[in-house]
Amino acid sequence: MDRDALLAMVHRLGEEFRSRDMRTHLAPLRIYWLALRHGLVQDDAHALHLTLSEETVVEWFKLLRLPPYQKAYPVRPTGAPCPACGPRAAADGELTTERTFPGGRKVVCLSCRSAWLEVESVTRLGRGSDVPVPRR
Ligand SMILES: [Zn+2]
Repeated sequence: MDRDALLAMVHRLGEEFRSRDMRTHLAPLRIYWLALRHGLVQDDAHALHLTLSEETVVEWFKLLRLPPYQKAYPVRPTGAPCPACGPRAAADGELTTERTFPGGRKVVCLSCRSAWLEVESVTRLGRGSDVPVPRR
């Protein structure tokens, strides 16, 4: 990816981390942004040894459903079975939470490597006061 495009994504991700109060992720991301900005990250993967990379930024865009990656992972109801393996995968302990973040989690089926998101409603993030509460 072009460095300027990655810088823009890192900036956007930082805004999202801040709005979600994800401080432990925000500090290393700021360092990564500075390193990128000043040309201190020079290999093809744009990696800095903070275990942050272009791939990490893109993965966070997918997890937080930021454009243009908002549809990278399907969103499934909490506790839903694997779409490929069915309830058997859950019964066999094949479903694992790979990552959690404010507002959701990424679930992976170890049997078939399917991945999806389970997302809490926006109102629980505390920024939906002007958003109508969905009726269930
Ligand atoms: Zn599966």
